[in-house]
Amino acid sequence: MSHSSIHWFRKGLRLHDNPALIAALKDCRHIYPLFLLDPWYTSNTHIGINRWRFLIEALRDLDSSLKKLNSRLFVVSGPPTEVLPKLFEKWKITRLTFEVDTEPYSQSRDQEVMKLAKEYGVEVIPKISHTLYNIDRIIDENNGKTPLTYVRFQSVVKAIGPPKKPVPAPTEEDMKGVSTPFSEDHEDEFEIPSLEDLGLDTSSLGPDLFPGGEQEALRRLDEHMQRTGWVCKFEKPQTSPNALIPSTTVLSPYVRFGCLSARTFWWRLTDVYRGKQHSEPPVSLHGQLMWREFFYTTAVGIPNFNRMEGNTNCVQVDWENNPERLAAWREARTGFPFIDAIMTQLRQEGWIHHLARHAVACFLTRGDLWISWEEGQKVFEELLLDADWSLNAGNWQWLSASAFFRQYFRVYSPIAFGKKTDKQGDYIKKYLPVLKKFPAEYIYEPWKAPRSIQERAGCIVGKDYPRPIVEHEVVHKKNIQRMKAAYAKHSPQDKTPTRGVKRKATSIMDMLEKKAKR
Ligand code: FAD
Repeated sequence: MSHSSIHWFRKGLRLHDNPALIAALKDCRHIYPLFLLDPWYTSNTHIGINRWRFLIEALRDLDSSLKKLNSRLFVVSGPPTEVLPKLFEKWKITRLTFEVDTEPYSQSRDQEVMKLAKEYGVEVIPKISHTLYNIDRIIDENNGKTPLTYVRFQSVVKAIGPPKKPVPAPTEEDMKGVSTPFSEDHEDEFEIPSLEDLGLDTSSLGPDLFPGGEQEALRRLDEHMQRTGWVCKFEKPQTSPNALIPSTTVLSPYVRFGCLSARTFWWRLTDVYRGKQHSEPPVSLHGQLMWREFFYTTAVGIPNFNRMEGNTNCVQVDWENNPERLAAWREARTGFPFIDAIMTQLRQEGWIHHLARHAVACFLTRGDLWISWEEGQKVFEELLLDADWSLNAGNWQWLSASAFFRQYFRVYSPIAFGKKTDKQGDYIKKYLPVLKKFPAEYIYEPWKAPRSIQERAGCIVGKDYPRPIVEHEVVHKKNIQRMKAAYAKHSPQDKTPTRGVKRKATSIMDMLEKKAKR
């Protein structure tokens, strides 16, 4: 049979390692590459302007790659359950393919779409390619239980074997006999919208440091993989939160949107490692991709993963509702230059280093402000280019010592932590120019500078830059006691035991937390 196929791009905005797209092309006469602007996302999630730009750039890049195959991307606005049936009829569709997405909304959306497709006699082919493994299989292999530690998780995936090899991008050969029926006025109906078309306020757009798209992703991957010594020696805890040039790959936005396949990333690393001594998980780059896989697995296995309530793996904490303090954190007005510089970089550029995320997440929650990790999760969801439902929730639970990590008594100092890798405070001076004339001695604690120094620096604390909103030395000790009380009431892992776990080995996160000073 000659099929008319829709390949529905959601994440997976790429041609390489796209098994669902390859399945769409099999015995196919007409292929319609489709992207839906689903209003659910705009009304239920927070997407900052920098991420919108990344998405639009990724769609443009995809369209230009499709053009090279004599095809085009069709962009349509509307809920999938309304749009797809209309397109099934209009385009006489017999087959729908897409990449499996494990997020709760995507799961329920895809269930409904599959039901509808059946009614319209459309064959549906979902393929796994966003994650390294089939997440359900990982849970099955662990006797149907979600592995709750990285060590346990590693032993399960070790038994499964290495991830599948990525599939090559379709070639002109694969497209023989397949066409995309697009018209000359394709743009009129199916154009990729601009930020202005979407009615978005572009006044707060930051510099375009990480342009979206598969070509850019593969170029950046190539660039990193050529640094074989760096790749082989990569140890996450040795990288710096406040380096002026990122000390890790910044491939996360590309992996998040699927401009870069995690399997391609994985196998390229394997190629670099071959025959050489190299670092190992959890600290290596393979280890980082495993963290991603670990949090995807827990996000699938633990109900209400992005919330405290109803999440049995999460310590129930009496976080405070404090809108003023939350706004000060979000808007880089805490009076702690290291924290404010990180929050400024996040807002302007959409990416911050993993340890910088540690610092601000600990500060917001158990360290200083005693505000729920769910509030921090929302701010990251808006501002991160790589904002990812599973990874954001999992890491916020970790940092707030609500799940996975239990050493709540190890608190990052908003003063000492940054100094370790940036004594002069160059990072602070870059993102908080108001402090740029402060001597290094006071750059992390400007409120301690004598008045004469503040005057010489042209910045009076309390007027030109805020005073600290809390006294770290006092609040963090109080908060440790509050965490202790929360743990005494609720010890989550006792409620969700994992078979076969005898001890919790040191993980990368433990190592990172150990670096924290009180
Ligand atoms: P690299 O060190 O170069 O790692 C390579 C890849 O491994 C990354 O691109 C990413 O896909 C994956 N990875 C690395 N670290 C982690 C990790 N701890 N957990 C899961 N995957 C990881 N990452 C996101 O992609 N989206 C998020 O929404 C997100 N929210 C976070 C929230 C908090 C509070 C914290 C502490 C961390 C969060 N992370 C999130 C994880 C991590 O900080 C980023 O993945 C990483 O900093 C991205 O930079 P990179 O690409 O240079 O990482």
